[in-house]
Amino acid sequence: MQTFGCQMNVYDSERLLSLLLSEGHRITRNPEEADIIVLNTCSVRERAERRALGRLSDFYRFKQKNPDVMLVVTGCMAQRMGKDLTGMMPYLDMVLGPDQIFQLPAYLQNSKDNSRVAVCSSREDFDSQKIWEQEILPERKTPFTSFAAISRGCNNFCSYCVVPYVRGPERHRPIHQIVREIQLLAESGCKEVSLIGQNVNSYKFEGKDFADLLQMASDQTNIDWIRFVTSHPKDLSEKLIEKIATLPKTCEHIHLPLQSGSDRILKKMNRKYTSQDYLKLVERINERIEDVSLSTDIIVGFPTETREDFERTLDMMKKVEFDSAFMFRYSVREGTKAASFVDDVPEEEKLGRLHILIGLQKEISKKKNLRLLGKTFQVLVDERSRKDKDKWKGKTKSNKTVIVEGNEDVLGKIVTVKINDADSFTLFGTLQE
Ligand code: SAM
Ligand code: SF4
Repeated sequence: MQTFGCQMNVYDSERLLSLLLSEGHRITRNPEEADIIVLNTCSVRERAERRALGRLSDFYRFKQKNPDVMLVVTGCMAQRMGKDLTGMMPYLDMVLGPDQIFQLPAYLQNSKDNSRVAVCSSREDFDSQKIWEQEILPERKTPFTSFAAISRGCNNFCSYCVVPYVRGPERHRPIHQIVREIQLLAESGCKEVSLIGQNVNSYKFEGKDFADLLQMASDQTNIDWIRFVTSHPKDLSEKLIEKIATLPKTCEHIHLPLQSGSDRILKKMNRKYTSQDYLKLVERINERIEDVSLSTDIIVGFPTETREDFERTLDMMKKVEFDSAFMFRYSVREGTKAASFVDDVPEEEKLGRLHILIGLQKEISKKKNLRLLGKTFQVLVDERSRKDKDKWKGKTKSNKTVIVEGNEDVLGKIVTVKINDADSFTLFGTLQE
């Protein structure tokens, strides 16, 4: 199984693995040994699709050696391309959209079934998928943290984004099912859950909203920490800020995609807030939530973005001082509103703006991290450091990566760490009693 893209795809892959394991399949890290190869794909940017297509051609080699190998494509690219994919690559055995992915075991039992392509054909079709019916706990890389989806799809139609088309309309998971999953995870040794959805703030179920869900997950489960991603600025309510500020289990980190600092571009992107609205929101968050950290997503080179528009994005980055940021070059996505705009910022210019932005953010991240020297934090240690085998890696509640020395006992524990060094991406510390 190889996964491209966002946390939702990782979660879907982990749940599919769990399902396949329960049916008696086993995992191999060596593709040459595999009988079934699944590629769970992303469509958000063209590059992600190109990489997935490249991987599929690589995997074709294994099928040439052994024609019994099943090559399966799932996820957003599968949904977007559907039959075009089997037309392009006739050797593919199955193409399953994000809402058909869990039907794979059933298809495997009946591999003579000639409906090789199963994707949703309309928005109504997504609605009819009964996606929450199967309750499957994810097969995770680490037992100490887990994702849990609270919604699927998106209704926002940001003009550049393919997600509403490939993942369908926003559908909210029943609240008691989410709480039950979090408790099951806690009972299995998981310390931290990340609640995921394209826009978690718009969650609603039988009169309860996302703030109520945080309250219920805090009160009714034994999980230690609760994270959540992604927050849309237009839906981040005062009630939610209050909950994040006051519920001790809720992590003080908000991923709040800004996308651009220019009001003209934000309007063209259909983001439904202005830079002033965003700044006011950040001010309120900083006032109310102690030690909060903020991260964001930015797109550079959106159609018609001028140097002045880009300067406004740089200004916003300086004003807000995000702890970290994911920064992208605009990529045209067929079928979106923005695909009808002329992609008029030359690639070189997009790349130049991206480099400037990344450089600025690196400085800001470092400056913010250096302010933490001498402070102590709770850190959930969840793996060995890859660079230094005597050290351990974990995260603070504010989502900062921390490297700490210690023996094996720290793994899976929430420990107290004093920070004594930092760079743009990582804090380094020592264990405290
Ligand atoms: N729902 C989340 C949100 O609203 O931020 C995440 C959506 S998307 C998977 C993650 C990020 O990819 C977006 O926030 C945006 O910055 C970026 N993105 C989406 N479409 C893009 C495109 N066509 N070109 C470049 N970046 C894009
Ligand atoms: Fe895409 Fe906007 Fe929905 Fe995020 S909120 S998934 S960027 S359409």
